[in-house]
Amino acid sequence: MMKMSDKMKQAMEKICVADAIIIGGGSGLSSACGYNHYHNNEMFQTHFQEFDDKYGIKNLMKGIYYVYSKPEQQWGFYARYFDFMYQAPIGQAYLDLKEIIKDKDYFILTTNIDMQFSKVFPEDKICYFQGDMRYFQCSQPCHDKIYPNRKKVERMLSSMEDLEVAEDEIPRCPICGWKMIPWVQDDTFLRGAEWKASYQRYVEFLKKYQNKKVVLLELGVGDMTPSIIQLPFWEMTYNQPETFLINMNLEETTPPLHLMGKNLNFQMDILEFSKCLRKEMETT
Ligand SMILES: [Zn+2]
Repeated sequence: MMKMSDKMKQAMEKICVADAIIIGGGSGLSSACGYNHYHNNEMFQTHFQEFDDKYGIKNLMKGIYYVYSKPEQQWGFYARYFDFMYQAPIGQAYLDLKEIIKDKDYFILTTNIDMQFSKVFPEDKICYFQGDMRYFQCSQPCHDKIYPNRKKVERMLSSMEDLEVAEDEIPRCPICGWKMIPWVQDDTFLRGAEWKASYQRYVEFLKKYQNKKVVLLELGVGDMTPSIIQLPFWEMTYNQPETFLINMNLEETTPPLHLMGKNLNFQMDILEFSKCLRKEMETT
């Protein structure tokens, strides 16, 4: 087993000599910063306890998929959740990440929908593979457009009474009049022009750096949707001679044996990881 400090040094060296960095960002990155969308924790209890008291909702994702008895209640939860994420300070791991890659060309592929990446990095450097809670779409969808929702969220919030938004504040599609939904992965998720353009930027970036020195930085990617980040990253590492994979997860992940020598695997807290790596960069 390699010593942790040696491993960290090696990761830093790989990043320093890389022509480009591709970040695969998963939910573990936000969880480490206190934005855990999947579990009951202090953040949930502090800001969303009323939803537990009223509906028995124990975490944020449960609140998204809970079957409410009327849309006013559903939008009451959405409005509070989205507003919370709009106001949420940038997590430290994201700030560290920005410092770590600041001298590099980079691209971010993420399954996170919680606005954290967009608070730190420019839009044209990010592909939100599973959508982004800053937007609504028509629930059919009847047309190809996504709508920024911040103002609407504020209006819904100010109309709230007893955790329900006013009936006339429920978002409606401006074209067909049917209800709107958050622009996030589900049965009717709109992979329209906007989504395709951002995915295309990712594909172009991969092309540009094909056969160059690339570091894939996989951060907090769980095993819920391996086909989006993890498996393609493994494949690229295997197929591209100059590609190196650094993956970091609180849970144990085991990259396949044939990546041996082209991969550094960290199982630790992401905050700790990003802090150490940043320190390593700054003292070099
Ligand atoms: Zn519509």
